[in-house]
Amino acid sequence: MRQSLLFGKTKKETPKDEVSINASLLIRAGFIDKLAAGIYTYLPLGLRVLERIQNIIRKEMNNIGAQEIRMPALHPQEPWKKTGRWTQPGTEVMFQFKGHNRAYGLGWTHEEIVTPLVKQYVHSYKDLPIAVYQIQDKFRNEPRAKSGLLRGREFNMKDLYSFHATEEDLERYYEKVMLAYSLIFEQCGLAALVTEASGGAFSKYSHEYQVITPNGEDTIFACAACDHYQNKEIVENPACPTCGKQREEQKAIEVGNIFKLGTRFSDAFDLTYLTEEGVAAPVLMGCYGMGPSRILGTIAEIHHDDRGLMWPATTAPFQAHLLMLGEEDAVRASAEAWYHDLEKAGIAVLFDDRDLSAGEKFADCDLIGIPYRLVVSKKTGEGAELKTRSSSDTRIITMREGQKLLTHV
Ligand code: ATP
Ligand code: MG
Repeated sequence: MRQSLLFGKTKKETPKDEVSINASLLIRAGFIDKLAAGIYTYLPLGLRVLERIQNIIRKEMNNIGAQEIRMPALHPQEPWKKTGRWTQPGTEVMFQFKGHNRAYGLGWTHEEIVTPLVKQYVHSYKDLPIAVYQIQDKFRNEPRAKSGLLRGREFNMKDLYSFHATEEDLERYYEKVMLAYSLIFEQCGLAALVTEASGGAFSKYSHEYQVITPNGEDTIFACAACDHYQNKEIVENPACPTCGKQREEQKAIEVGNIFKLGTRFSDAFDLTYLTEEGVAAPVLMGCYGMGPSRILGTIAEIHHDDRGLMWPATTAPFQAHLLMLGEEDAVRASAEAWYHDLEKAGIAVLFDDRDLSAGEKFADCDLIGIPYRLVVSKKTGEGAELKTRSSSDTRIITMREGQKLLTHV
């Protein structure tokens, strides 16, 4: 992509009404635009990152046999009345309104939609297990939306729902999901800690994935001695329940949350199956949430310095940022050749071909935070000067070296 044509520009000023680090950085660097509190547009750079995160998630979901679907965001009130969630917590969380002659709400979670959907296809034990997921925008009337992408009123969520005949099967799948979640967060460059939390309708705890950082809205009790983590909301005393050692309170961001729902929703919608003996039994459910837009915001919170963003290679909008310094014909020809040959090798390049000073280009490059910087100037000849975003070391490389290095990123 030629930067001269890129929609969205870097900005000098941090927006006045934006107090969060993640959104301030992402707005300044031209990744997102703020429409209102908790409501953001993804510009091309931001959308590329969001889609990379979604694709990491998609790959791991498919690997555990989950199938992607897309449910509506616009929900009639009837299924929500069945579970009682139209009013509790519906009226606080859900955006609700009147259509021509019926009431609707915007989806903030999808148990009320997915359970009756699956009921159409499940009759006997032979139809189970089933796991379906979607990656879609959710809407929540959040009272305080001051944390940028960490707390949107419209935000992106991956929600997976699984359906099982037996507790053992639910347990087995729950553990598979835990593994997939660990792989996803690792690939996103986040150290997410499995944390016990409230909300397990069917088990003592739900499990949250928490990333420790000072700007987190959650507080967790962390035991360094035995790697045990609990959300403060369920903590009974400061000592670790497994080893008895003193624990530390830490601020953290919840990037994922998984639950065993048991029969909470299958009861409400009468979702049953026939066992091998021909007896009707309720289907057991699990639900597994994760927020790609909150993950994006968390990466920005964790991976930056005072000059700007520092993307992990796995989620960066481009692999290389190619800077052309100088307008001489030979420099332009060499930079164009680099751009062409890297793209030909399948490497995603942002090519700063703009007519700006070296200082301005370096500042934008650091702000945008692509992992590899390549500078072509009068002194680099046919080569380019390579630098990573996180170090100050530079060296001159040839095109062949560049292609080899960057294809493995
Ligand atoms: P929180 O406690 O932070 O309000 P939650 O427990 O209500 O979140 P879940 O219903 O468990 O959230 O949603 C699943 C995932 O969706 C969360 O782990 C998080 O990654 C993401 N998420 C939830 N609410 C928001 C939001 N307002 N903005 C961005 N992401 C969100
Ligand atoms: Mg949660």
